Amino acid sequence: MADSKSLLTMGGLKNSIASICEEIRRLYSEDDSPWIIGYSGGKDSTAVLQLTWLALQGLPDGHRRKTVHVISTDTLVENPIVSAWVENSHRSMRKAAVEQGMPIEPHQLRPEVENSFWVNLIGKGYPAPRPKFRWCTERLKIKPSNKFITETVRGSGEAVLLLGTRKAESVTRARTMERHEKGRVRDRLSPNASLPGCWVYTPIEDWTNDDVWLFLTSTKNPWGWSNHDLMGMYAGATEGGECPLVVDTSTPSCGDSRFGCWVCTLVDKDRSMSAMIQNDEEKEWMLPLLRLRNQLDIRDDNGYRNDIQNRDFCRMDGRLTLERSPKGDPKDPAVRHTFRRRAMEVASRLKQAGRVHGVRDDGVYYLIHGPYVQSWREQFLRQLLETEDWVRKHGPEAVQAIELITLEELQAIRRIWVEEKAEFEDSLPIIYQEVKGEPFPAGSLDDSRQFGAKEVELLREAIGDSTEDTNAPERQLDLARRLIEITRKYRTKLRRAGLFDQLESVLESRSFSTEEEALAWAIEEEDRANSASSQAQELYSGVLILDGAPESFASDEAEMPEALS
Ligand code: SF4
Repeated sequence: MADSKSLLTMGGLKNSIASICEEIRRLYSEDDSPWIIGYSGGKDSTAVLQLTWLALQGLPDGHRRKTVHVISTDTLVENPIVSAWVENSHRSMRKAAVEQGMPIEPHQLRPEVENSFWVNLIGKGYPAPRPKFRWCTERLKIKPSNKFITETVRGSGEAVLLLGTRKAESVTRARTMERHEKGRVRDRLSPNASLPGCWVYTPIEDWTNDDVWLFLTSTKNPWGWSNHDLMGMYAGATEGGECPLVVDTSTPSCGDSRFGCWVCTLVDKDRSMSAMIQNDEEKEWMLPLLRLRNQLDIRDDNGYRNDIQNRDFCRMDGRLTLERSPKGDPKDPAVRHTFRRRAMEVASRLKQAGRVHGVRDDGVYYLIHGPYVQSWREQFLRQLLETEDWVRKHGPEAVQAIELITLEELQAIRRIWVEEKAEFEDSLPIIYQEVKGEPFPAGSLDDSRQFGAKEVELLREAIGDSTEDTNAPERQLDLARRLIEITRKYRTKLRRAGLFDQLESVLESRSFSTEEEALAWAIEEEDRANSASSQAQELYSGVLILDGAPESFASDEAEMPEALS
């Protein structure tokens, strides 16, 4: 958004800063509520922290009685340059606060291990985040910051959260901030709807981009950090918003920023990392990270995300989710024409993307794919460990101890693979040893297990290869392992109530060797359910409106499994 006016230059730099500092002092001294500053290391949050620091320096000794917590969320997949920047800034801050007698306490917040990016993506198999399935922000950013804020509010009754949000960032941001302004019941403080007892204070809400830089470059950073280097970090990346502290889901996309996660697939490409690499030869060591990130963001020729070949056709719990596109009643004259055109478009797109689908007179059917399959998860973990190794060996000194994935995360992934997914061959330590050349530094998961890698190998041999579908053996192995795992769990139980139900449920949901089989079954199931209602019977009465379909469409019909025609 273009800078329209500059508060700093209109009121003069000195006067404007003095009046904001005065306001900060007044609000700070008004009550006993602790303050929390959301600090991402970017320019806006740096400006807020710097203003607060300067304001508190102006209070007489003995009047700086409340703690100001400075919180930053480390998602564990932060852009490594930014992550190191924030970590070092925290270190300087802590030292300077002690030396200057400032009540400032920095905290780096991390997601719980089960919420981490890798544990969900490689462990559980969640597909890389996308606009319709943005599972990451809540787990990586909102939960850690909300936990800290809630605990602070619990200890003191309420807390004030200082954020660097500005109206000039975007029109949407301005509208949201104006709405919050109207809801203010205390001077300059807006209540946060999702965090009871938390008041939000945005001291630089009316500043322009230029105001922020003018302030940062003309005033000395009080904790000894270099604002000129910060400017250099921005210059080495592209222009755009910064990734602020995220406390609720109203944030448009925290990935659309130089300060987002390096794995972020919410943006078309990692703008910050690409620009950093392009603009600075010394940052070329980040190239393998960029390549790895791009493997999560697979797209077809039309730019649509298309990673279904790496994902199971049933959901995490084994359910099949059938999608019919387009929606609507094909017999309705008002929608008839559009319906037909859209159906043909969808069929053509699915065909181009190599997706299994079925075409009928009431729409195009396909399955919503679920988690990443085992072979992809294992292969991606291997590549991640190899990338970490490469960066340690070939990167500059500062990143020679870089940790792209923590040992705690690896242990959590291993447990999920073996215990939740019944992949009891326990392949993670094997992959680790092959890549790192040293044993996985944790013992076995459960010594009482009777089945392991050898038995899985025997199962593989018994299943053999499939010439029709290369993924079929993997699915058959998955079914066999799950059945074995269920019986293992019941082995020592005196009462075996529920055993058959569980076996039946796994057999029902995971017996399909191919996606075609699964799709045909799902459609039959839906037909059975629909035939119970007269409305559905009308819908399926066979009004064929897709006459005159183009060649690609017609050939889809020819390829349909029998059950679909
Ligand atoms: S930066 Fe991207 S990957 Fe990270 S939490 Fe935000 S949306 Fe998710």
